[in-house]
Amino acid sequence: MPLASTSWLRQQASPVRHLLVNGIVAGALQAVLMCAGAWLVAHVLSQAIFHASPLASLWPWLVWLPLIAVARFTLTVKQRRTTFEAGAKVSATVRLKLEERLRTLGPLWAAQQSRGDIVTRFVDGVDALVPYYAGYLPQLAFAAIVPAIIFASALFADPWSALVLAATAPLIPIFMLLVGRAAEQASQRRWKRLRRMGAHFMDALAGLTTLRLFRAVSREEAFLAATGDAYRQETMAVLRIAFLSALVLEFFATASIAVLAVLVGFRLLWGTLGFEPGLFVLLLAPEFFLPLRALGTQRHRKMEAAAAAEDLAALLEEKAPVLANTVHTTKHSITSNQIAVAFRQVTFGYDDGRDVLSDVNLAVTAGERLTIVGTTGSGKSTLFSLLMGFATPRNGSILINGEDLAHLDLDAWRRHIAWVPQRPHIFRGTLRDNLLLASPDADELQLERAIHAAALTPVIARLPRGLDTPLGEHGQGLSGGERQRLSLARAWLRDAPVLLLDEPTQHLDSSTAAQINASLSKLAEGRTVIRIAHRLDAIGADEHVAVMAEGRVVETGRASTLRQAHGAFARLLAADRAA
Ligand code: ATP
Ligand code: MG
Repeated sequence: MPLASTSWLRQQASPVRHLLVNGIVAGALQAVLMCAGAWLVAHVLSQAIFHASPLASLWPWLVWLPLIAVARFTLTVKQRRTTFEAGAKVSATVRLKLEERLRTLGPLWAAQQSRGDIVTRFVDGVDALVPYYAGYLPQLAFAAIVPAIIFASALFADPWSALVLAATAPLIPIFMLLVGRAAEQASQRRWKRLRRMGAHFMDALAGLTTLRLFRAVSREEAFLAATGDAYRQETMAVLRIAFLSALVLEFFATASIAVLAVLVGFRLLWGTLGFEPGLFVLLLAPEFFLPLRALGTQRHRKMEAAAAAEDLAALLEEKAPVLANTVHTTKHSITSNQIAVAFRQVTFGYDDGRDVLSDVNLAVTAGERLTIVGTTGSGKSTLFSLLMGFATPRNGSILINGEDLAHLDLDAWRRHIAWVPQRPHIFRGTLRDNLLLASPDADELQLERAIHAAALTPVIARLPRGLDTPLGEHGQGLSGGERQRLSLARAWLRDAPVLLLDEPTQHLDSSTAAQINASLSKLAEGRTVIRIAHRLDAIGADEHVAVMAEGRVVETGRASTLRQAHGAFARLLAADRAA
């Protein structure tokens, strides 16, 4: 599994390869300059001390030192910037891919997920990728390139010292491999805990009122505290491994440098080594181990990125269960504005295998209106999910102007639909933003008309900043009925040939409902309308009605005819009146 996530991480790097290469080249040049600087220092000191060279002959050499320092600084900045840019780019791309994925997985999939979990994956998960590209990957290259450059320079100056470096260097990677497995597992555990904690926290936040009412706040608090504490312990475990391994690496590096220093010292004493090459290799020795040690500290970042990557890759490959059979190569686009809809022997069930719809047959001709009634849970809203292509029938088909929905371009089809959901969602932004979502190019006049038609005018008058009042994530400040009217105004603005209304007057008082019904009749003109209704009284005598019970259409016909018959509609009506 970790191998798969590492290769996934590498794959994501391919669009930013040039940035990474630039960063690595800058780092390598920096190492070359560092060797040159060390040689300069060794040379100048040896000339001054052992050859008594006057300052006048040395200072042309000395001028190079600040120049090298400035060049090294510039290269370091360049290296950090380009590799960070690579990390930021990858994370932005992954986030876009995830968004795209969520769109295809659709609202039915999202409804089964925990929001907090999705947020944790989107924010923390994607953020954990940045240090992998900005830090770990370049460091991996430096850990190979920089010691090689230094080894080559040392080989040139003093082959014995180069031999010591070459003999001690492998200790560090070997040790890193040894602790790798434990660190990986600790990171995985930490990441899973973070996801669980995020999910729980969002849940507690969203249900705060219910929790308070049930006096369950302290229980939830205790649970969050326990999760938080477990997360702390897991984080500490990861850090412990990181610090301990850094300590051991430090020890190896220091011991190796000491061995080198002792050898250089003795050979200086015995006169078998000159001062200049001796000082040169001593100056370079710490730099030889530095990239390897730095790789050790970057490794836990890599583990974190790998833990997140495994999860993100799984999310990107997730299949929407109810969308299992939508693989069609040629997609047709709906172009007509006259749309007929038909359900042909449609059977559908969610993941649990139970049939929510069984053998549903319905037909609405272009420009006609169908009203669906039925007990709660009979599958009415599910019909809309199928019609909008968020789920596909297990059997049977949905026909749009005679063409199977499975063969249609879903985006093009959805542009023909205005949907007033049962529980409208209000997005963060102003009331105006929320309205313009339905039709971004609408002008003031169209906005005005939609607001009037949806009886939103008194609502706007009450809001402190009218149309420009900011609304919270869940539309705090709007009542259920107000939200519903906002959603109706969206349907007006949308101006689509198919209108799907899921109980549009459910939360409204009877006079507002009557007002809305009148304006909906106007909106319905020339459009194909399917409306789910609970108030049977308000259904007009000549309306075409389909009655649903337990996922089946049990009765269809004109409302006036059904009222006379002694069937399901008459029974619903009687029950309604008795209530
Ligand atoms: P209501 O009048 O209460 O709005 P409805 O007729 O619109 O009811 P649906 O929302 O279509 O009913 O639900 C039909 C059945 O499908 C219900 O038993 C419900 O529990 C189930 N169901 C709905 N959505 C999902 C889902 N996302 N996953 C699993 N089951 C679901
Ligand atoms: Mg419903």
